[in-house]
Amino acid sequence: MSSTLVQGAYIVAGLLFILALAGLSRHESARRGNRFGIAGMAVALVVTVLAATAGLRESSGGLSVETGGSGWLGLLLILVAMAIGAVIGLDRARKVEMTGMPELIAMLHSFVGLAAVLVGWNSSYEATAYPTIHDVEVFVGVFIGAVTFTGSIVAFLKLSARIPSRPLTLPFRNQLNLGALGLFLVLTVVYTLLPESAVFGRHALLGLVTLLALALGWHLVASIGGGDMPVVVSMLNSYSGWAAAAAGFLLGNDLLIITGALVGSSGAYLSYIMCRAMNRSFISVIAGGFGVEGGTAAADDTDYGEHREITAEGAAALLTDAHSVVITPGYGMATAQAQHAVADLTKRLRAQGVDVRFGIHPVAGRLPGHMNVLLAEAKVPYDIVLEMDEINDDLAETDVVLVIGANDTVNPAAAEDPTSPIAGMPVLRVWEAKDVIVFKRSMATGYAGVQNPLFFRENTQMLFGDAKERVEDILKAL
Ligand code: NDP
Repeated sequence: MSSTLVQGAYIVAGLLFILALAGLSRHESARRGNRFGIAGMAVALVVTVLAATAGLRESSGGLSVETGGSGWLGLLLILVAMAIGAVIGLDRARKVEMTGMPELIAMLHSFVGLAAVLVGWNSSYEATAYPTIHDVEVFVGVFIGAVTFTGSIVAFLKLSARIPSRPLTLPFRNQLNLGALGLFLVLTVVYTLLPESAVFGRHALLGLVTLLALALGWHLVASIGGGDMPVVVSMLNSYSGWAAAAAGFLLGNDLLIITGALVGSSGAYLSYIMCRAMNRSFISVIAGGFGVEGGTAAADDTDYGEHREITAEGAAALLTDAHSVVITPGYGMATAQAQHAVADLTKRLRAQGVDVRFGIHPVAGRLPGHMNVLLAEAKVPYDIVLEMDEINDDLAETDVVLVIGANDTVNPAAAEDPTSPIAGMPVLRVWEAKDVIVFKRSMATGYAGVQNPLFFRENTQMLFGDAKERVEDILKAL
């Protein structure tokens, strides 16, 4: 296969990936963006597999050079591996609940990290014309890959509640992280200085850096508190991109470098957006210790007084009298799979002339864009789904706010109590509305484990039970 053809196909695939990212940045174009991404990935896979199996024909200095391919047996093995992967992937994707997406994504990031480590180790056995550059590439690839691998596994364990989400606070944890980075730099220099013949010494160093990076990845994510998990998810997304780019350098694959850099930089930008949404600096997130201290209501024993309850019929009566309604969904809407019922309620109220809008907090749910995806699935019109900044100033003029399974993202303590663990995090100021109805099953805390004084406000009424069932009850009552 000609290398010009391969490079041409890679440019087409790279452009399709850029179009995919551009499409994914807006609701209306997200499906189209996905299609571009699928097409780009199909081109990339077909061309890479064919080039690897048929061999590459390059023109260099007027001479035609053939590089050996792995042949038909190689192609068969790759196809079998791809078929096994596709069956497992399809099965997982079909079965996964929307609420399980974050941990699935964390798990997938860990595979990218592991792949980069394996590519790095494999590449360390190869001789190249530029040994120093190659040595640095191997070290960086293995390091980023191993950090991504264990970091993503800890994120998976925390997001799926297999381990507690409270931060691990080892003494001198920041010094430990910085020390590990310093040691990595020193080991990299020593590795490049060792001659090729010192095979044992080189492998020992690479082994040491792999262990160091595995421990660092584990510690970095373990020491971040539950409230900061949104940033961790997007940060690991970014790391997995850089790990793929590092593997691209090692494999001499330009498309992998481009794709990795696209994922790495868009993930980094998403982390920045998440940090801004939570009013946190990236460094303070890495330094850890925000949010969760125990993760239960018992963590806060302040007496906020009594809460009031409302029935579905009472809520229906309030909604019938309202002119403007804002719905602020959260993670509970995803667990209850209440989005279709919420969409039906929206349609019903709008048909009665009520102005219904949605207010979406950037970290609502367990995944960037989680609520937007659910509402789009339920066909809620995009133009009534507003970001937190777009709706916050209108809340004081709103008759009824329906808080559907949201908790941390509507917690007034973040705005009013400087001693709160989530102090400073911008939230939806739902308590400014005339009436607030909170849909949840109990008085338990949200993901950050912080009690919510909203539930005890005079204009707040609790509608206990599963969010989907309660919304359906309201529909019946209407
Ligand atoms: P929270 O996690 O703060 O609260 C969700 C609430 O939903 C709970 O209090 C729970 O109360 C209620 N709930 C659960 N199941 C149901 C159900 N079936 N019916 C009704 N209610 C239910 O949600 P928010 O969306 O407000 O906040 C998101 C939190 O997750 C933030 O702390 C954020 O930092 C964090 N996070 C976000 C990520 C992201 O990328 N978006 C990633 C990782 C973490 P009860 O048990 O009483 O029903």
